Amino acid sequence: MADLDAAIIGAGIGGLAAAAQLARRGFTVGVFEQNLLVGGKMNRVTAAGYQFDTGPSLLTMPHVLAAHFAACGRRLEDYLTITPLQPLCRYFWPDGATLDAASDMTKMQAGLALLNEDDAAAYPRFIAHAQQIYQRTAKTFIYGSLEPADLLRALLRAPLDPLRIDPFRTMHQAVSGYFQDTRVRQLFDRYATYNGSSPYQAPATLCVIPYVEYSFGGWYVAGGIYQIARSMATLAEEMGAEICTNTAVDEVMVVQGRARGVRLADGRRVRARATLSNVDVLHSYSHLVPAAAQRAYNARRLAHVEPSCSGFVILLGVRRKIEQLAHHNIFFSRDYHAEFAAIFAQRRPAQQPTIYVAITSKSDPTQAPPGCENIFILVNAPYLSDETAGDWWDEYKQAYRDLILARLREFGLDFTSDIEYEQMITPMDLQRRYGAWRGAIYGLSSNARLAAFMRPPIRARDIKRLYFAGGSAHPGGGVPLVTLSGGLAAQMIAVDLRHR
Ligand SMILES: Cc1cc2nc3c(=O)[nH]c(=O)nc-3n(C[C@H](O)[C@H](O)[C@H](O)COP(=O)(O)OP(=O)(O)OC[C@H]3O[C@@H](n4cnc5c(N)ncnc54)[C@H](O)[C@@H]3O)c2cc1C
Repeated sequence: MADLDAAIIGAGIGGLAAAAQLARRGFTVGVFEQNLLVGGKMNRVTAAGYQFDTGPSLLTMPHVLAAHFAACGRRLEDYLTITPLQPLCRYFWPDGATLDAASDMTKMQAGLALLNEDDAAAYPRFIAHAQQIYQRTAKTFIYGSLEPADLLRALLRAPLDPLRIDPFRTMHQAVSGYFQDTRVRQLFDRYATYNGSSPYQAPATLCVIPYVEYSFGGWYVAGGIYQIARSMATLAEEMGAEICTNTAVDEVMVVQGRARGVRLADGRRVRARATLSNVDVLHSYSHLVPAAAQRAYNARRLAHVEPSCSGFVILLGVRRKIEQLAHHNIFFSRDYHAEFAAIFAQRRPAQQPTIYVAITSKSDPTQAPPGCENIFILVNAPYLSDETAGDWWDEYKQAYRDLILARLREFGLDFTSDIEYEQMITPMDLQRRYGAWRGAIYGLSSNARLAAFMRPPIRARDIKRLYFAGGSAHPGGGVPLVTLSGGLAAQMIAVDLRHR
């Protein structure tokens, strides 16, 4: 391959976003992906007539995807058909209570009133509080680059009022300030897990997450969420980027403190003026950046960075319809606090886990054979520790699968005798397949008060012309944020390459 302007390691969503936006600006771009399929954690299994999304199952903030396509001169609707989901999610509690969450305020209040009337009355106040946090923080911390000069400019323009953005309370404390009912608290605490954090540690600033879901909606993509990865790869190629799958990178070439491209696993060297790693930043530093060149994340620092939680996934093809379920469903545990203590303090799989069940065949008949359902089960799991690394999960996964299905039976859901396809994905699989640091789903946890400032920056501080985009870099994990990360990286690279 000829010398490139930009070499991108990894065709996850962040890498694909950066590739398209750089190529659109006229730069020559090569993307090197180790797997056969693009998409990284957004991936796909097709088996026995069933389609499964193996990673993301919910699209939020679709305007971010639309803006990405628009930045490349294209319209999202020419590539993807996205539809809002109602209910957003069906919640089940062990005492038999249920709630269909809705983005419509009146409907949501009516649902909450069945659990607790005072809490239903408090709901608009909670959303208003979350909304003003979003309005004060989004431009700088989600859409902005957080580069020192940009941050300074943003803060001079609109100084942050720490009391209004609620960083000193935990999410659970803030939620408990509005709601009395344990079940309602659990419902809103859950949003801390959208970036892999614990509501008992993460700052209340994360209340922006329920605001985003209830205001901008939860969306599904016809044909499965994986269509996002596919269409983003198509877009990048249409813009002129070259995507090489089945092509692992062994090393970022660094000469005199400057990244000069990549050395591929087959020994080929591809020189580039800028190198962008879409691989988890911590994995990049521990596996791809030569030890001699590292200053930002050496082995000692890596040991002290807290990853987000991981996930344990069960895919089930079931030969019957499950009428009581919606597209998204949550089965809560009895003791949420104990669950998060197990995950983040003891770093062991929770024995009474909250269980998420997504069934895309509820909205999309192409996802399962007629009369059947494609069931995706996700349980929050601890990131890999010394104890649960190696083949620990390979040995434990069957027992954990049995425990989860037994818990669902307690809620009256028994489909064990109708399973005709089954696969499990463990935290160790996420590390092995995608280079997810310690199996983390969303990069780093946001459990610390200043997590937003501590996240690795897009432009490496220690190596010139090395950049990062993806869930572990700014602004964080989840499909919309990693898309923004790729766009911000493309912008920075474009500026740096034009001002040599
Ligand atoms: C089970 C699960 C459920 C999730 N649910 C949701 C959800 O509902 N909504 C949501 O918004 N987000 C969700 N997420 C998070 C979302 O998937 C991620 O935040 C996002 O996809 C990460 O994108 P990324 O750009 O960081 O790249 P990654 O997905 O991390 O991709 C990195 C890519 O780099 C490649 N790579 C690694 N090492 C090398 C190498 N040496 N050479 C070449 N290539 C390499 C990998 O193969 C991979 O393709 C979920 C994730 C998981 C796992």
